[in-house]
Amino acid sequence: MSASPALDDVLARIARAAEAAGRAPADVTLVAVSKQQAWDKVAPVLAAGQRVFGENRVQEAMERWTERRAEIELRLIGPLQSNKARDAVAFFDVIESVDREKIARALAEEIQKQGKAPRLYVQVNTGEEPQKAGVIPTETDAFVADLRKTHGFEIEGLMCIPPVGEPAGPHFALLAALAARNGIAKLSMGMSDDFETAVRFGATSVRVGSALFGGRAPAAQA
Ligand SMILES: *Cc1c(COP(=O)(O)O)cnc(C)c1O
Repeated sequence: MSASPALDDVLARIARAAEAAGRAPADVTLVAVSKQQAWDKVAPVLAAGQRVFGENRVQEAMERWTERRAEIELRLIGPLQSNKARDAVAFFDVIESVDREKIARALAEEIQKQGKAPRLYVQVNTGEEPQKAGVIPTETDAFVADLRKTHGFEIEGLMCIPPVGEPAGPHFALLAALAARNGIAKLSMGMSDDFETAVRFGATSVRVGSALFGGRAPAAQA
C-alpha cells in the first residue's frame, strides 16, 4: 500500500484529466508544493515516491531540503529577490518566477559565476493584478525576447497564478497562447483547486500543495 493515499489520489486525477484531454499522463509533472508544511506531512509523500517539490522561499527550502537535496528535483515557485539569486542558482533545479530585468541580470551573473544554470520559467501575471508578481501579458513577448537576446537564456516555460475567485480556464488559455507564439514548450499552471482544468488547457506541470498535504501553517513574515 502507498505511504500516501493523497498522492495516489492526485496522480490518479491528473491521469484521468490527461486522458480525457487526449494527452499522456506522463506528460504532466506533479510539483508537490511543500512550503509551510510540517515535515510529518511531507515525509509520506516523499516515501511514496514523489520526487519533484516546489517551495516559495529560498531560505525555507534550504533549511528543509539540504540534507535530502540529492533525492529530489526542487523548483522555486515564489517571488525571487535579487539578493537571493546566488542561493537560488546554487540550490534549485528550476526557477519559475523570473519576471523582471533586475532578477534576470542577477541570475545571469550567478549562472556565469557558478557555472551552473537552473531551468527558467517566466511568470506571467495573467490577471494583471497589481499585488501579484509576474510580467503582464502584453509585455511578455518583449520580455522573453530580451531574456534570450541579452542573457542568452533558454526559457523552458511560462508560469501563472490566476486571480482568486475567477474561472481559471481563460487564464490558462492565455498562458498557453503566449507560450505557443514565443516557441516555449512548458506550462506551469494549476493548483489544488484547478489542476484538472489546467491539464485540459495543456499544463505540463501542476503545482499542488493543500490537496496533497492539507492546510498550511500561516505564512511567516519575510
Ligand atoms: C502555494 C502555491 C501553490 C500551491 O497551492 P495549493 O492551492 O495549496 O495547491 C502553487 N503555486 C504557487 C506559486 C504557490 O505559491
